[in-house]
Amino acid sequence: MLEIKNLHVKLEDDEKVILKGLNLTVETGKVHAIMGPNGSGKSTLSYVLSGRDGYEVTDGSATLDGVELLEMEPEERAAAGLFLAFQYPVEIPGVGNMTFLRTAVNAQRKARGEEEMSAGEFLKVVREKAKSLKIDAEMMKRPVNVGFSGGEKKRNEILQMAMLEPKMCILDETDSGLDVDAMKLVAEGVNALRNEGRSFLVITHYQRLLDHIKPDVVHIMADGRIVKTGGPELALEVENNGYADILAEVL
Ligand code: ADP
Ligand code: MG
Ligand code: MG
Repeated sequence: MLEIKNLHVKLEDDEKVILKGLNLTVETGKVHAIMGPNGSGKSTLSYVLSGRDGYEVTDGSATLDGVELLEMEPEERAAAGLFLAFQYPVEIPGVGNMTFLRTAVNAQRKARGEEEMSAGEFLKVVREKAKSLKIDAEMMKRPVNVGFSGGEKKRNEILQMAMLEPKMCILDETDSGLDVDAMKLVAEGVNALRNEGRSFLVITHYQRLLDHIKPDVVHIMADGRIVKTGGPELALEVENNGYADILAEVL
């Protein structure tokens, strides 16, 4: 389970405080959604959990199954079972997609003290999973994300997630810029990965993704904190009325 307590984060080279005492618990096997207005700190939360440079944690903790994440290097977090899919997936010129995936899978295995996957086994598994996400062989040979369309990048991230079999998956606005078909494919990919040992935190600005990935719990984030928590009906309330009513109630 992911447990975030009293998280305070500021920019490293600026006085700007972004997260202001954020509390959040995501139970094992559950799908939680975070919604909130632009600028409320949703992406910052995912960056800080992934260990990206540029942010300073001034207070609080974030643990995955009791282990503190905030003191780990990004690769250690991945080995501990954390996976993040970002709003803007990075392009890696010169590194083939297949090679990248195999390196990531084996690095994770090594960090866990497990044996490497053989080339044959890797190929078999990756082909199967790529096919279910409608990713063709040609796309697997191209450099990571270079020249991929928005939809292809997102599907590629779901493939990375499927190969790494994380315990905790965080998707930051993975629906932005996708057409309806691409969004459905991403949602199906996520739904196929749902199981009782794996949790998801789905960050989204709009409700429509949640029509396809049904959350157990919905949180509203504003001004660096979770300000309201409820069931799926909370997402519908936002869809119908926007954030103003909820924010007027809690801020
Ligand atoms: P959200 O994802 O909810 O839209 P963000 O986490 O992207 O919110 O941003 C929260 C606030 O912090 C915004 O006001 C944003 O401009 C600011 N911010 C985040 N990262 C940086 C940065 N690296 N430099 C300057 N401002 C930043
Ligand atoms: Mg934003
Ligand atoms: Mg964002």
